[in-house]
Amino acid sequence: MTSLRVTDTPIATASAVEALAAFGRFAAARGWVPATAGNFSLRLDDAHALVTRSGIDKGNVGADDVAVVPLAGPIPAGLSAETPLHLARYRADAAVGAIVHVHTVAATVLSRADEARGAVRFAGFEMQKALRGVTTHAATVELPVFGNDQDTAALAARIEARLSAGAVPGYLLAGHGVYAWGATMSDARRHLEGLEFLLACTLEERRIGR
Ligand SMILES: [Zn+2]
Repeated sequence: MTSLRVTDTPIATASAVEALAAFGRFAAARGWVPATAGNFSLRLDDAHALVTRSGIDKGNVGADDVAVVPLAGPIPAGLSAETPLHLARYRADAAVGAIVHVHTVAATVLSRADEARGAVRFAGFEMQKALRGVTTHAATVELPVFGNDQDTAALAARIEARLSAGAVPGYLLAGHGVYAWGATMSDARRHLEGLEFLLACTLEERRIGR
């Protein structure tokens, strides 16, 4: 039987903390993390991630606002209730190096509108090419929508059962917000920015009846 020794837990480096803090400042400046919403994480090694704590101002993240979490659990006290969604992504795909989650208006509104359909569809947008594996505006991109659930361990299992390798690097939680990920924090941020732009355009198009 093996157990995790203290020395097996990596130390959160200043650069890893700063990567989460920088993303928090970026998201806060856009109004994407209102009222302490949102959570971000970074893979530290094949068994640990650095995750933001809950209830903190995500625009002002410091070293005391993050925690090293074993991907296999247990989850330390004081972390976001959504931490299981992060850990499940890292366990499912070794290529995932960073995960970002924010609550934007477009993601919240469209996820409610398209929950029954199970996905928001994008077609014809040049911005689709911001997403890993999409090379043309002519492709149809499906961003999955999952029903929100306060039992995030059960929700994580439902999400991972539906996501496939090579799919869009993100999903929506109905009435809640958007998740995106990538190999690095800059990849995750690019995917989130691309998805948010596509969601904002789609919301505007529905407003004008297109
Ligand atoms: Zn959330």
